[in-house]
Amino acid sequence: MGSGVSLPLDRSSTFRVDEQAYRLREAGRGYEAMVYARETNPTVEAVERRLAALEGAEQALLFASGMAALHAALMALLDGGGQVALSDRIYGGTTGLIDALLPRIGSGVSTFDPGRPASLEAAMRAETRLVICESLSNPTLRVADIPRLAELTRAGGALILVDATFVTPALQRPLELGADLVWHSASKYLGGHSDLIGGVLAGPRKLISACRAWRTRAGGCADPDMAWLLERGLKTLALRMRAHDHNARGLATWLAAHPKVSVVHHPSRADHEQRALASELMRGSGGMLSFELAGGDPAAARVLANLELFTEAPSLGGVESLVSPPARMSHVGQSDAALRAADIGPGCLRLSVGIEDLDDLLQDLEIALEHA
Ligand SMILES: *Cc1c(COP(=O)(O)O)cnc(C)c1O
Repeated sequence: MGSGVSLPLDRSSTFRVDEQAYRLREAGRGYEAMVYARETNPTVEAVERRLAALEGAEQALLFASGMAALHAALMALLDGGGQVALSDRIYGGTTGLIDALLPRIGSGVSTFDPGRPASLEAAMRAETRLVICESLSNPTLRVADIPRLAELTRAGGALILVDATFVTPALQRPLELGADLVWHSASKYLGGHSDLIGGVLAGPRKLISACRAWRTRAGGCADPDMAWLLERGLKTLALRMRAHDHNARGLATWLAAHPKVSVVHHPSRADHEQRALASELMRGSGGMLSFELAGGDPAAARVLANLELFTEAPSLGGVESLVSPPARMSHVGQSDAALRAADIGPGCLRLSVGIEDLDDLLQDLEIALEHA
């Protein structure tokens, strides 16, 4: 019988046990025996092998969500009061989990600017065990100087975990730049079709084993159906990322020349402060961009009301173009001072640029901007 060319989907939650499985469990290697799907499942494991290959990692783990993956990493890597040094431009959910969890486990946080490694040097404490940053931050696309941050982390005897959700291994492989662990929300570009929630950790065997133990304990395991959908998405990752990048560059160039647009944040722009660093660390700039309208928030509201191809929705990384106002979505409730510190000015809109025809996207923006 020939075997299928697509990944078999095995929904089993439990598996037939043989003598070898009992022996593995008795030897404390129950995970390898594959007896229960909270520990592992063949479909999930096959996708994990592909994710590890994409990241150039020894091993990868798939989780129920990006946040479940971060939870496992924090529990595995912070012991005995170890502290976190956290980038000051970071996903709200990351800050939310860290702020809620760390005080309960006797841990604390310091912050640094991911684009200025010297600021990490100042943020490192004797107790710092874990440094966390994003390859590209939301929504202004600040580039983390991973090689320099990794050096300082190592010198301080800590580990560095990089959230590579915005770049994917198609644009950057953080482990090759010195990161100890890579973290993804697979719900974004890796899945790529806005139809799944999942998370990934990838890195060396020893760290991944510690994170896996927490996945099993806390139950943030991946569903095989989600794993299967994710694997289908991964088949087109390289193609999709090329199309996202092409379209975002085109829109960034067009927006920068538009009289009603005052600022464009995209690493492909000549006026992006970190353009050289971006081209050193990434193969392309990706599909996210943000811009500010000279007319401020009222102009942004009129543009939102007149866009048709861009759906007004949070999240990102799918094949379809999305738009959202960071001040009312990802950064909702933050003070004007906090927004200014994050470089989010009045009239800011964030685009997750999809893979539609670039001319269609340009035309949609052109019409909407007539109302700005
Ligand atoms: C969405 C997101 C997360 C959280 O992932 P979930 O899959 O939603 O749990 C973490 N980091 C970044 C940068 C994200 O965009």
